[in-house]
Amino acid sequence: MTIETNDIAPKEKAANFLDEIIKESVARGQTRVQTRFPPEPNGYLHIGHAKSICINFGLAKKYGGLCNLRFDDTNPVKEDTEYVDSIKRDIRWLGFEWAEERYASDYFDQLYEWAVVLIKKGLAYVDDQTQEQIREGRGTVSEPGKESPWRNRSVEENLDLFERMRKGEFADGEKVLRAKIDMAHPNMLFRDPIMYRIIHAEHHRTGDKWCIYPMYDYAHGQSDSIERITHSICTLEFDVHRPLYDWFIEALEIFPSHQYEFARLNLTHTMMSKRRLLKLVQDGVVMGWDDPRMPTICALRRKGYTPASVRAFAEMVGVAKRDNVIDLGKLEYCVREDLNRVAERRMAVLNPVKVVITNYPEGKVEHFTCINNPEDESAGTRQVPFSRELYIERDDFMENPPKKYFRLQPGGEVRLRYAYLIKCEEVIKDAEGNIVELRCTYDPESGNGSSSDGRRVKGVIHWVSAAHAVEAEVRLFNPLFVTEDPNDVEEGKTWEDNLNPESMVVTRGWIEPSLRGAAAGTPFQFERVGYFCPDTDTTDEHPVFNRTVTLKDSWAKINK
Ligand code: ATP
Ligand code: MG
Repeated sequence: MTIETNDIAPKEKAANFLDEIIKESVARGQTRVQTRFPPEPNGYLHIGHAKSICINFGLAKKYGGLCNLRFDDTNPVKEDTEYVDSIKRDIRWLGFEWAEERYASDYFDQLYEWAVVLIKKGLAYVDDQTQEQIREGRGTVSEPGKESPWRNRSVEENLDLFERMRKGEFADGEKVLRAKIDMAHPNMLFRDPIMYRIIHAEHHRTGDKWCIYPMYDYAHGQSDSIERITHSICTLEFDVHRPLYDWFIEALEIFPSHQYEFARLNLTHTMMSKRRLLKLVQDGVVMGWDDPRMPTICALRRKGYTPASVRAFAEMVGVAKRDNVIDLGKLEYCVREDLNRVAERRMAVLNPVKVVITNYPEGKVEHFTCINNPEDESAGTRQVPFSRELYIERDDFMENPPKKYFRLQPGGEVRLRYAYLIKCEEVIKDAEGNIVELRCTYDPESGNGSSSDGRRVKGVIHWVSAAHAVEAEVRLFNPLFVTEDPNDVEEGKTWEDNLNPESMVVTRGWIEPSLRGAAAGTPFQFERVGYFCPDTDTTDEHPVFNRTVTLKDSWAKINK
């Protein structure tokens, strides 16, 4: 895809062999590039789909072509309009718009007619065998299959039976339509693949019009052909299907779409199987499909990822022919880079200790001007209240610090970001010896970065005014799985044993007052802490913030 001006420039420009193929065909005079993204509306899109979306829409855009959104809705049992809506929302959120919205079910009449054409050519037949018998008859890689006893039915009988299949005269599983190819073919998919099966089920778009539904191998290529797709891009596991894809198109003498395969995206510490993600939702392990720990696009959005960061990630990982696993750290790198440019800065203290400035007048409040985004002047400034009692991070004070500790310490001086220099005069502890308060003095001449005598102070820490700060729930997310490969299990254990018990740590924070009422999803950098955004659960009374990503890559190193 082309990187738009508002995209971050990836540091690593990865190879994209599909781009090379299209470039060559354009150079050879092929003028039209038409792709499609073909999701099955049976679940939510995940980051792997995002890669496919970026490839399909991105390549079409780059070469002045078009990309359709085609719902591969050939299985009425698993599909739902809820998924159709979420898929459309996610693609648009990623920044793409389809040329046409199509459904494989739009083509059921055409597919049926073409099946009749194949029957008439003697290239398809109705088989009465059970699913079990068909499976057994298929043979193995080393042994040829067995021909069905129904394989040599006459064209007339096949036409009659196929029509009666459509009319609903038979029960589920009683008959199938199979292509008549070669039961000894070395490619198992060629051993008379099933084209249609009977499913008496209501379809989310065609209702009860049909009770026979086409199989993937028969529906997909023909749908591509109807839409005159030039580059039918799919994941690597479909490469064995390509000869069959070509066989149907040749047998039907229709528009010759071509299939190209690329390696699917795998991410460390992440699971992308729809079935297993569904289990996590159903078992209540996560809050839903959009739980920020999920690899779904809606979860990334809720967590605070930007569309540009996901596109940059797709660009960074490139398009290759060999399967590999990408470090989750790369995705986090991309969002960090983008948020650094776009997120406004705020101050928030997650693990507070109180600071009392003993020489600051009681009841006095002043406001300091803070820069919203040093990377973007147009983001302007805001006023942050300051008073006698503040919170700072507990980590920013040490009673017995090592050398080169530049933050607050007994007798030491530190700069409060945008505000004064303070010096710690006294440490107050409770009966158990926990520090409960730090008594400090301030230099009244030191506001806004200055000091009374030009002395320089190395440490700068963030703060909030205790009386003005708003208490918030803060959700800290960590990888959902502790192991790089969630499927890497010891004997007697399952992938679920690899779930990270600390994937979500709920804590509290004190945020500066300007954050009250911020809309869900608005990205912020809490200075020195990390990137955060209000969660969809946030309210004015009970603000809830998600940690999108830490400021630095911390966990990746720990896990290596
Ligand atoms: P299913 O098991 O339900 O078929 P699927 O993940 O293949 O799941 P689809 O809705 O069929 O889901 O996928 C739509 C498109 O996204 C397909 O072209 C598929 O190849 C692509 N896709 C799916 N998973 C990945 C992935 N991890 N990386 C890249 N592309 C993917
Ligand atoms: Mg699929």
